[in-house]
Amino acid sequence: MDVVHEECGVFGIYNNKEAARLTYLGLQQLQHRGQESAGIVSSDGDRFYSHVSMGLVSDVFHQSALDKLKGRMAIGHVRYATAGASSLLNAQPIVVTTARGPMAIGHNGNLTNAITLRKKLEAEGSIFQTSSDTEVVLHLIAKSAAPDLVDALKEAFGQVTGAYSIVLQTPKTLFAVRDPWGVRPLHIGRLNGSHLVASETCAFNIVNAKLVREVRPGEIVAIDHRGVHTVAQLPAQSQAHCVFEYVYFARPDSHIFGKSVYEVRRELGRQLAREAPAKADIVVAVPDSASVAAMGYAEESGLPLEMGLIRSHYKGRTFIEPKQSIRDFGARMKYAAVVEALKGKRVVLVDDSIVRGTTSRKLIRMLKRAGAKEIHMRISSPPMRGPCFYGIDTPESNELIATRLSVEGIRRYLNTTSLKYLSLEGMLRAAGKKPDDFCSACFTTKYPIAITDGGRFQ
Ligand code: SF4
Repeated sequence: MDVVHEECGVFGIYNNKEAARLTYLGLQQLQHRGQESAGIVSSDGDRFYSHVSMGLVSDVFHQSALDKLKGRMAIGHVRYATAGASSLLNAQPIVVTTARGPMAIGHNGNLTNAITLRKKLEAEGSIFQTSSDTEVVLHLIAKSAAPDLVDALKEAFGQVTGAYSIVLQTPKTLFAVRDPWGVRPLHIGRLNGSHLVASETCAFNIVNAKLVREVRPGEIVAIDHRGVHTVAQLPAQSQAHCVFEYVYFARPDSHIFGKSVYEVRRELGRQLAREAPAKADIVVAVPDSASVAAMGYAEESGLPLEMGLIRSHYKGRTFIEPKQSIRDFGARMKYAAVVEALKGKRVVLVDDSIVRGTTSRKLIRMLKRAGAKEIHMRISSPPMRGPCFYGIDTPESNELIATRLSVEGIRRYLNTTSLKYLSLEGMLRAAGKKPDDFCSACFTTKYPIAITDGGRFQ
């Protein structure tokens, strides 16, 4: 698919002498959720130690940086952010000093009333340091007149709407908070005497931690010397788990929303084969995100799965972009076609989604050059028709190809033999819960949480 950026991943650990190092390992496993900045804030029970910078986790943290992150508790964050001077300012975890003492916060999601709240807070005298919606939460906590921190958290989170899976740290307590709609995943794990929190369970696997349970929608969990306890429950809302986490974002070795991402993604492929069969010789995945769906398609259709496309994981950044003569190099640096698999074949090409269509078009051209005779493109989700306001950095509506062209129009633009998408019903059936438990607004444009501010917070 064209690049769509997840906006963040969070991790937290309580009571471990290697807290910062385990957070580093956890963040590496969450790297797919954000590649622009990374940060860890640790606590020794009295004060915080922080290291936050732009770049990949492995670039941001070296031995010397990890050595300085003292203490048995830490939270970490990876973020996708637009480039520019303000980006480091917006990198997380954010640390603030309040009348209640120091606090650090890491957030995955997007608040839908942050602009309104920020204007109100500024009118009342608050001074913001960043342009991130997360800071709004900190100001609401700091301003609360409630004497107890838990009551202040309840009051603050009671005012915000939208998607938030949050790790929040005071010198002695780690909190995990999830919005009442349950849009983004958030989990609690255990490793001997330590407790962990992570966006995805793949971050537990690396450190041999066991999944205990999800943080429930609307739950505020405190982890301290007494263990893990629910300290508050925000008023219930209808569920709106992001179905696109299953389609594309989450890693296949994670469990989210109570199910294996691998199993759901494979079922998406099977369902696609049932709904949109093709007379073809082989099935090829657009790697890596569509690999599991392509396996499901091959399994259900009885066609062999071939590795017709290879993805380079070592592309890095390219600074040679738009000169006309080398315009296609970006796609070619990321993918390569395998002539031996494709030559003379009728190919089912499985991808998870089409966003702008530019990458798909280049891939199809690449497959044809490698000798593919026919290309039947199959997409394991419905046409994408709206932007996400809940924490995924999708393009605006007018940049989405499905808002401008019919399926036949897209097929012609891509220059492919046939093109079919999975139905909305088929996608939700594969996801396995009640259809009403999911947000699928980028496909339906029916947004389950009010977009108070009419746009995305930048
Ligand atoms: S709009 Fe799409 S990407 Fe955003 S939360 Fe809903 S399903 Fe997920």
